[in-house]
Amino acid sequence: MNETPVILSASGLVKTYGETRALDDVTLRVRAGEAVAIMGASGSGKTTLLHTLAGILTADAGSVTLDAPIGRIRIDQLSDKERSRLRREEFGFVFQQGLLIPELTAVENVALPLLLTGHGRAQAEAHAARWLAALGLAGMEQRRIGQLSGGQAQRVAIARAQATGAKVLFADEPTGALDSATSADVMTALLDSTLSRGHALVVVTHDPNVAARCSRVIRMQDGRITGAQGATPAPVSASEVSR
Ligand code: ADP
Ligand code: MG
Repeated sequence: MNETPVILSASGLVKTYGETRALDDVTLRVRAGEAVAIMGASGSGKTTLLHTLAGILTADAGSVTLDAPIGRIRIDQLSDKERSRLRREEFGFVFQQGLLIPELTAVENVALPLLLTGHGRAQAEAHAARWLAALGLAGMEQRRIGQLSGGQAQRVAIARAQATGAKVLFADEPTGALDSATSADVMTALLDSTLSRGHALVVVTHDPNVAARCSRVIRMQDGRITGAQGATPAPVSASEVSR
């Protein structure tokens, strides 16, 4: 029996676009301290699943429940406004292109979600700088995104996703635009920064090397989970970097 607490659970998710069943009865649990890789052919529903788990999309049927400090929250039953707030406070996101703001410096990009959750500028930037340092980017705080390599920019995106203390990180093809050596480094940064704090990572990837480093791999086909492998690890102790 697995005693590690479930952070996020989805049950019976269905999402259709016209004739397309992007999600067809998907049930999934994500536990604290595990990294779940989602693999599958293009169009199999990976991004739709990630977005539904994260409350970016709402399914036509099924439930998504987050075990938050204040208790269990049915994400699918929240208003748009409540879901946006929950995403800002509980979740972090890393996409293939970091969606960083090019006009802002690295430290300003990382500080931005903290400003949005009500922190003062000085405190937010100090915290952001600590996260950049934790991700190996000390000295690059004042660079704009265009002055960083692809791998460095992804580390800024990871720092930004982690800075608010997110319990679950969602990453959609986070290494898809990187060469294999840089990809391995970015994946290490993503896994270490998440799992060392006992948080969870859900990562969509085409890269078997990325999937191999996750605790569990889920395979999707035509909106369904067709296979899973790997076990959930034992709980990990909390980290050195925290909010
Ligand atoms: P993947 O990430 O695995 O490539 P997606 O989740 O993006 O797959 O898409 C799953 C299916 O749903 C595909 O057939 C896709 O064309 C369809 N789909 C996704 N988003 C939309 C949308 N906004 N409108 C219409 N069809 C969509
Ligand atoms: Mg996709």
